[in-house]
Amino acid sequence: TVAVALFTQDLRLRDNPVLRAALAGAEEVVPLFVLDDGVRAAGFAVPNRAAFLADCLRDLDEGLRARGGRLVVRGGDTVTETLRVLARTGATAVHLAAGVSGFARRREERLQAELGKRLHVHDAVLTALAPGAVTPAGKDHYAVFTPYFRAWRQAPLRRPLAAPRAVRVPAGVEGLPVPTVRPDSPGLPPGGESHGRRRWNGWQVDRYEQVHDDLAGDGTSRLSPYLHFGCLSAGELVQRADGPGGEAFVRQLAWRDFHHQVLAARPDCARADYRPRGDRWHHDPAEARAWRSGHTGYPIVDAGMRQLAHEGWMHNRARLLTASFLAKTLHQDWRIGAAHFLSLLVDGDVANNQLNWQWVAGTGTDTRPNRVLNPLAQARRFDPDGAYVRRWVPELAGVPGAAVHRPWLLPYPVDYPAPIIELTADRFRLGRPGAS
Ligand code: FAD
Repeated sequence: TVAVALFTQDLRLRDNPVLRAALAGAEEVVPLFVLDDGVRAAGFAVPNRAAFLADCLRDLDEGLRARGGRLVVRGGDTVTETLRVLARTGATAVHLAAGVSGFARRREERLQAELGKRLHVHDAVLTALAPGAVTPAGKDHYAVFTPYFRAWRQAPLRRPLAAPRAVRVPAGVEGLPVPTVRPDSPGLPPGGESHGRRRWNGWQVDRYEQVHDDLAGDGTSRLSPYLHFGCLSAGELVQRADGPGGEAFVRQLAWRDFHHQVLAARPDCARADYRPRGDRWHHDPAEARAWRSGHTGYPIVDAGMRQLAHEGWMHNRARLLTASFLAKTLHQDWRIGAAHFLSLLVDGDVANNQLNWQWVAGTGTDTRPNRVLNPLAQARRFDPDGAYVRRWVPELAGVPGAAVHRPWLLPYPVDYPAPIIELTADRFRLGRPGAS
């Protein structure tokens, strides 16, 4: 018998229930990945993620080859290609990880309609806990993180699965070579399970709580792209990090699950406000351009935006303050910012990006939707010596200490823009005065 393991955002051999179930139920397995035209058409296959994905596929292929198998990569429509592989091999089962985005859900529904009982959808592959595994009484998802975290913490997790020892692939299934893609950002990390595991093994989780908000210290795990593409299993990381010093990191993984369960219940929130507040956003393309390119005149904001352009990644603290600057200080529509982030982030993820943006913009799950982050106060707290700004804003690289955060006060001229907006008290409330 033959089964298909249809890989999506679970590009790993270890702790992969999809691959495990396919191998358990059949003598031969087709490990299949489809470069889906729909992802491209939706504008989601941007160069940074496409390049990282190509690395992931090559790494997965190498891992499968070391076990006697290989990865079959095809292009087109996932459902059509899966049916073609079924027709070719006589496979009797297709295994797939449950997804949360609208795109993943439609793909699953179409496969279900075609395959009926031959489709096996596996939960808790892309997240530690499946969306809906814990719910408040009478509701289908948690809208507030703290009670979610309490319930999430008590729910049992599946024990991590070992990688398979051998994989036999039926003969005669054609595939494409994995494409080589040039990323937009020169500082992009290498993709794949091997690199993800190396990163995890070389990183110290017990220091996370002290260092995670220090912008220049750069002490976070940088595992987000590996989690997004499923090179690493979130459930396995929770169990490995669990212990002295690991709690703060585990909490971040719970945030990831939290946003996934919100999107699973409200897939419309990829675009629509989770909690509409009747905002009338300010429209100013020149200001939006200055924000995107890192020329707002606020060095801490510009440093974050330039890190994004250079690395396809941004520190969480910088994501928070740059997003707040766009949505709350400039009062521009969060969708403008979310789209820009998605065009560059190597970890760009519908659940995490859109719902974090909504959280910052006050249209999402923040219980204090009116909070505004003052970029100068953020700079003082999280980049006290100015080292993060000097790293990313070369025009200011020669300015010593915290003076770098207020270049307009320097007693000598610098080649750096003046602030595009004044930080008056008015800017610290939602609803820009005079906005239309
Ligand atoms: P660590 O601090 O080491 O955290 C470990 C893991 O926990 C991360 O890899 C990530 O998977 C998860 N995590 C951490 N913080 C969050 C959070 N706030 N929400 C959800 N998961 C979290 N994360 C993405 O993975 N993709 C996105 O597209 C994305 N867009 C964001 C947009 C905005 C406006 C904001 C404020 C945050 C966004 N985040 C996103 C969340 C967070 O900034 C990144 O996950 C984190 O910076 C990745 O770096 P790290 O792996 O070193 O994180």
